[in-house]
Amino acid sequence: MTTMCPACSGLLKNGPVCSCGEKTIDTGPVSDCFGPYSPYFNMSFEANQCVHLYKCPACGGDRRIAIGLRHI
Ligand SMILES: [Zn+2]
Ligand SMILES: [Zn+2]
Repeated sequence: MTTMCPACSGLLKNGPVCSCGEKTIDTGPVSDCFGPYSPYFNMSFEANQCVHLYKCPACGGDRRIAIGLRHI
């Protein structure tokens, strides 16, 4: 069985809504940035996740979101 990330494969285009009300944009996976300063990630970590960095074009804020992989 294979898994794929819906965000990496373009199925998931819209990011979460920023606190300023604008939609954030997926800037790609951040698999090389798993740092000790990502509490979210540690909390929700499971092997089958791909973490993406979403940026807000309006205020410049960014968020890391763990995307659950899908079985294909
Ligand atoms: Zn991904
Ligand atoms: Zn914003």
